[in-house]
Amino acid sequence: MMQFDLVRFFTEWNLRSFEGELPIPEIRWNPRLKTSAGRFIPDRTRSIIEVASYLCEEKNAEHLIRDTIGHEMIHFWLWQKRLPYGHTPLFHEKMEEIGVSRYNTVPRHRPFKHCYECRSCGQKIFVRKRLRMAACAACCNQHAEGKFHPSYKLKLIASGEGLLPQIERGERVG
Ligand SMILES: [Zn+2]
Ligand SMILES: [Zn+2]
Repeated sequence: MMQFDLVRFFTEWNLRSFEGELPIPEIRWNPRLKTSAGRFIPDRTRSIIEVASYLCEEKNAEHLIRDTIGHEMIHFWLWQKRLPYGHTPLFHEKMEEIGVSRYNTVPRHRPFKHCYECRSCGQKIFVRKRLRMAACAACCNQHAEGKFHPSYKLKLIASGEGLLPQIERGERVG
C-alpha cells in the first residue's frame, strides 16, 4: 500500500477542488476498516481521514483511493464550515461539482443483515444481529463526551436479504 501517497492525493484535491483551504489532517490507512472505503473523524486539534487498506488490492486501486479521499474531504470541508457533515444535499452537490463518485467498493461476502444509520452524521453501520440500543460512536465522542446520547441513536434503515445486493453493488458507507 506504500506505493500510494495519501497526502499527495489530499493535496491535489485540496488545490483543485477546495481552493486549498483545508488544513492537512492526519491521513492514515486502516486495515480493520471493512464496511466502508474511508472514514472522516473530526477533531478540533487535528481531524483524521482513514482509508481502508483493502482498496489497495482492488484492480483500480489508485482511482478508488483518490475517490475515497475526495469523498472524505467533503465531510471534512462541511465540518470545517460548521455545517452538518453527513451525506446532506450540500454534500451531494459538492460531490457532483468536484467529480467524486457516489459509490465505492466494499468487500463482498459479508453476511450483514441489518443496516443502521446515524441521523446526525449519516454514518451507516452494517451488522448481523439487530442492535437494541446503540448510538453513533463518532457523534457521542464528538458531542456527548463519549457517553451514550439518545440524539445519536442509530436508526434501522434496512433489513433482510434485500440489503445484500445493495452491499454487493458496492454502496459506499461512511
Ligand atoms: Zn453520527
Ligand atoms: Zn461519507
